[in-house]
Formats: sequence, structure tokens, C-alpha cells
Amino acid sequence: MNMDGTLTEEEQLISDSFRAYCEKAVRPAQEEWNRERKFPREIMKDISELVLPATVAGHDSRGPSESSIGLISELMGRYEFPVPGFLTMHFAKMLPLVADEEVREKYLGRYLKGDLVICGAFTEPGAGSDSAAISTSAVGRNGRFIVNGEKAFVSSPVMADAHIISLRTGEMDMERPHRGVSLLLVDVRTDGVEPYGMEHMATVFNGDFGGIRFNDAEVPCGNIIGSQGKGFVTLMEVLNTQRVHVALYSIGIAEQAIEEAIEYARIRKTFGQPISRHEAISFRLAESWTKLQASRLLAFRALALQENGKENSAECAAVKWYGCEAAFEAAGNALQTLGASGYVTSSAMERRFRATRGFLIGDGTPDIQKMIISRRLFGREFSP
Ligand SMILES: Cc1cc2nc3c(=O)[nH]c(=O)nc-3n(C[C@H](O)[C@H](O)[C@H](O)COP(=O)(O)OP(=O)(O)OC[C@H]3O[C@@H](n4cnc5c(N)ncnc54)[C@H](O)[C@@H]3O)c2cc1C
Repeated sequence: MNMDGTLTEEEQLISDSFRAYCEKAVRPAQEEWNRERKFPREIMKDISELVLPATVAGHDSRGPSESSIGLISELMGRYEFPVPGFLTMHFAKMLPLVADEEVREKYLGRYLKGDLVICGAFTEPGAGSDSAAISTSAVGRNGRFIVNGEKAFVSSPVMADAHIISLRTGEMDMERPHRGVSLLLVDVRTDGVEPYGMEHMATVFNGDFGGIRFNDAEVPCGNIIGSQGKGFVTLMEVLNTQRVHVALYSIGIAEQAIEEAIEYARIRKTFGQPISRHEAISFRLAESWTKLQASRLLAFRALALQENGKENSAECAAVKWYGCEAAFEAAGNALQTLGASGYVTSSAMERRFRATRGFLIGDGTPDIQKMIISRRLFGREFSP
């Protein structure tokens, strides 16, 4: 992205093509998918040529920039692109790190054909923010890990074909709990793997929500991602930029909400004039627009630092906190503009309000992002 916010030729092309696809195939079906909580798997095939290779580029080709993927994340939010598809696209970045070449090529091949939905399962009933405090564990036997434990509050565990999980493959060292944590790719059809849904959780755009139980599930050791016992570092590296994409998805939802609210405010009249002429309405939307613009600029700056191989953990954390908060506030302001008609379950505003709230928890809460920022500002020794 250029300094003035305009797009490079490549970014413009990717953005235009994906927008055109969403206008044709996603916008008209969005309401029905949401109403029926349906994940249309065929959309993975649809985007397999245009979008998916970008996310695993570097595996065998030089692909589009991280900023191009950021534009796609933002558009996905605007169009309520089903969350299992959005998350698959980002978790797939770990596939090139699968240890065994045959396993790696098999799953990458399925992904690139649009035939693989992945979920990332790191949270447990007893460990969320403190992601090294997990108790799911494995012992190695005859080239296989025997996995036991449970993951909870995970997006799309039931509709996923494969789970990327964090687990303990070494003894817990209380001084350095992140040591001995590994990442493993687990096929859903493995004996002893039981995904379950949490029916009463608020879901975000066509996803399911639930957990996974592992009862003596046997997974080949070659399915390890990165190095055994060093998965925590890999996970933190992946989550670092993933947080920016999650924030951009949420910002995209809010941008769409604000634009629709502006249209509504021009038409709806009270006290003899369009409600946009009441400062309370127009200033509220002006404030939200400004905060979203600021968040968006910060997001693309964080991605530009990533592209240039520069340290960006504080920038990524700042976008996740500030951007998701700005998006939630904007979604609320947009809903408020519609009055009661925005507060019904058939309204896109209600969906957006619920969705943007979820992103203030998923992938790390604001409190945790502020911890990360503090570490940059004060150094580890002087920060919480
Ligand atoms: C919509 C949504 C989607 C999700 N998707 C996934 C997914 O796909 N995969 C997955 O693995 N998980 C997922 N999660 C789970 C999510 O990552 C966790 O809920 C999150 O990390 C917080 O963990 P927790 O719920 O256990 O809260 P806790 O860690 O118990 O925290 C409780 C409260 O204490 C605060 N807190 C905790 N520690 C500190 C501290 N040191 N300083 C200050 N405050 C602190 C937190 O900010 C929070 O407000 C999802 C959650 C949501 C809501």
C-alpha cells in the first residue's frame, strides 16, 4: 500500500477481483447462510485460485503481499464472508511448517484445491489468555503421539476437516511453562477425536462454536508443526499477524455498517428533517469513521512492518485492541442510527454488533494486547 493509502497495481487487482466475486456470490446469499447457520463449503473452491495461494506463498512461489491479504480480510468482514473460510485462510499459514513432507504436501494440496477447512484449537476449559497453561498432552509411542485432553471455545471445530492444536509434549517447567508446548495437525477422522458444538454460544457469521475431546487419539509424529517443544514460539509468531487480520475483518464489518447507517440517516426523517441533520447522529458516525480510519492505517502499517521483516508485536497488538474496540463501537453507533429496526434478529446491524463484540475476546482480549504493548514500552522486566 502506498503512503497516501492508495493501492499498488497488484493490490488493486486482487481487491477488485475479490470484491466482484463477493458482490456476485456472497452478498446475495449472505442472509440465508446466516439465518440457517450454514457454511457453504463450495466457496472455498471458489476462492481457491484467487485467494488461497496467497496465504501459503513462500511455500513454492512468491505470492501477493501481506497487505493484499489484509485487504481481503477487510473485504471478508464487509461481506460477512463465512468465518470458517476466513480462519482457514489464516491457519493455513502453518501448513508449510508441517514436519513430514508427505503429510505437508497432502494437506497443502487439499487446501489449495479448496477442499480443506481448518480450525485452530488452543483454548481449553482451564486456559485461555494464559495459553501456555494448557493440559492437553501427548506421549510418543512407535512414531505416534497418543493425545489426551480437551479444547473449548473454539471456532468451527465441528465443520473443520483438520484441527491445529497446541499440546504439551514435554514435562511442565513451572519457571518456563511455554517450553514443551508443541503444535500438531490432527485429522478430524482420527479415532479418539471428538469435536462437539456449544449450541448456546453466540456464533459469528456461519460458523459453529465448540470444543474437541481427545481420548487416546493416535496422531503420526510427522504431523508436528515446526519443532517439537517449540510450538509456543511458532504460535505466537502466527497469532501476531493473525491478530491484524482479525482486526481488519472486524473493521470491515464496521465500515459496512457505518456506510449503511449513513444512507439510512439521509432518508429517515424526524422532527421534519433527515436524522443526519441532527448533530447527535452525524457526529457519532463521524467519530466512528475517524476511529476506523485510524485503525485501518495502523493495521496496514503493522502489515508493512511484517513484509519488511521488522519487529511489529506492539503494532499488531495495538490494532487488535484499538481496531476491534473501534469496530464494536462503530457497529453499536450504526445500530443506534437505525433505532428499533436495527435491534431485531433479522437485521444485519444486530449480527454485526454481536460479531464485532466477539472479536474483542477471540484471538486475545484487549487486556492481553495491552500487556504486549507494555512489554515493548517498558521492557519485560518492568511490565506486567
Ligand atoms: C468469538 C470467539 C472466537 C474464538 N475462537 C477461538 C478459536 O478459534 N480457537 C481458540 O483456541 N480459541 C478461540 N476463542 C477463545 C479465546 O481465544 C479466549 O476466550 C480468549 O483467549 C480469552 O480466554 P478466556 O476466555 O479463558 O478468558 P481468561 O483468560 O480466563 O480471562 C478472563 C478475563 O481476565 C482478563 N485477563 C486474563 N489475564 C489477564 C492479565 N494478565 N491481565 C489483565 N487481565 C487479564 C481477560 O482479558 C478477560 O477479561 C474464541 C473466543 C471467542 C469469543
